[in-house]
Amino acid sequence: MSDPDILATLRDLLPDGTVSTADAAVLGRSIDASGAPAIGAALALVQPRSTEQVAAVVGAANAAGVPVVPQGALTGLAGGANAVPGALLLDLSALNRILHIDVEERLAVVQPGVTVAELAAAASAAGLFYAPDPASAEWATIGGTIATNAGGMRCIKYGVTRDAVRTLEVVLADGSLVRTRPSTIKGVAGLDLTGLIVGSEGTLAVVTEATLSLLPAPGPSRGVSAVFPTLAAGIAASNAIAAGPNVPSTLELLDDIVLGAVDAYLPHAGIPIGAKAWVLAITDSVHGADAELSAFERIFREHGALTVDRADTPIELDRLLTARRLLNQAMRALRGGSLNGDVSVPRSRLLALVERFAALANELHVVIGVGGHAGDGNLHPVVAFDPGDPEQVAAAHEAYQRISGIAQQLGGTMTGEHGVGIEKLAALDGELPPRLREMQRAIKAVLDPNGILNPGKKY
Ligand SMILES: Cc1cc2nc3c(=O)[nH]c(=O)nc-3n(C[C@H](O)[C@H](O)[C@H](O)COP(=O)(O)OP(=O)(O)OC[C@H]3O[C@@H](n4cnc5c(N)ncnc54)[C@H](O)[C@@H]3O)c2cc1C
Repeated sequence: MSDPDILATLRDLLPDGTVSTADAAVLGRSIDASGAPAIGAALALVQPRSTEQVAAVVGAANAAGVPVVPQGALTGLAGGANAVPGALLLDLSALNRILHIDVEERLAVVQPGVTVAELAAAASAAGLFYAPDPASAEWATIGGTIATNAGGMRCIKYGVTRDAVRTLEVVLADGSLVRTRPSTIKGVAGLDLTGLIVGSEGTLAVVTEATLSLLPAPGPSRGVSAVFPTLAAGIAASNAIAAGPNVPSTLELLDDIVLGAVDAYLPHAGIPIGAKAWVLAITDSVHGADAELSAFERIFREHGALTVDRADTPIELDRLLTARRLLNQAMRALRGGSLNGDVSVPRSRLLALVERFAALANELHVVIGVGGHAGDGNLHPVVAFDPGDPEQVAAAHEAYQRISGIAQQLGGTMTGEHGVGIEKLAALDGELPPRLREMQRAIKAVLDPNGILNPGKKY
């Protein structure tokens, strides 16, 4: 089928205003927040308003052999939602209704375009709690966070998005609509197709509805942070907390490069002189929060903390989180450009990981600052560079590629939460042996025999 034919078919199937080929509309939705270039020019932007319309678009695209790129809010950091040549950009953000909050079953049924923050607010209004909390929660959609299996700061206690997904309604590549399993907490009939689709980055199916677990509301968040005279001491303190009996809801780390960048970016952030590592532990326990904070504080002091700060109110906690929130901005401000990594290793390898990054930075004459979710072993190395200097640009990109390899050599992964998309495809060989890649492509071929769903990504 030619381009005009598929467009005519879609215009017959869908209401006016749903399909656009205007450059501004198509280009405006062709890349995500990674800034990675699109693989090619998309054919049209399609903005369905119902599940039936999504099914009609995917069915027509499959019949015509036209690629479909599912899209949420485009906050992805791996190019997963970027345009591919001749594709329909399938923007699901108009499917944005919270269909049901069931207090008795502790679950929510939502359309994919609902944002994480909207669901969190609705759950909270019902006295419940939606645990996944990527830092992009204000914008990121439930569909996008399911497709990337998004993480965030609360995973050490509550797990990742996958842990909250009970069942999915999805449109398969042939346009048919299926529900992956019942909404029960338990259920082992057949293979776990829900788990397969979570994190599949729009390559196996389009999520049109999600049934998500809600939890009892936690207590207020309170925290304690500390700075350390050495990176080793900071990581040892973080690992001691992670291995201890009191599970924090958040356990974050920043290294000295990031602390220096934050200090330069916001001098009144209060970074002490000589700080080589910063660690923050938060509790949201309903009972025993005081004892937990004291235990975290004791561990910090036992590991030689230079200073310890405690936050018992939301305003105080907000202040403690300032440096962590500035990780990317402050690093980018160092030289004007930055590349953000997302590696994950066993916690016992965190020190080796950051030391290897420091050696890499020395070797390539680049700046690499590291921060992130130490409690999950998931860190975000940020390579800072001057975008106007071709040598620095080349060195930064080389560093970015080698960062993935270092994590893999230490028994970890090149992506803990952002996904593969197109940005990390090159590093997949270092992690998945040929047999596993073949198996993954075989699964893709069964679910999407014509290869229309988000081709050129993930595998
Ligand atoms: C400031 C900032 C902070 C961030 N913080 C975090 C963080 O803490 N943790 C984290 O994990 N990530 C984080 N991210 C990355 C990003 O927000 C997540 O990857 C998020 O899950 C993407 O959601 P989205 O709606 O923007 O999806 P998009 O970027 O639009 O799409 C992401 C992927 O999902 C697919 N997709 C989207 N909707 C559907 C659907 N309905 N069905 C099937 N496939 C679909 C797309 O094809 C693509 O592969 C951050 C990003 C930014 C910009």
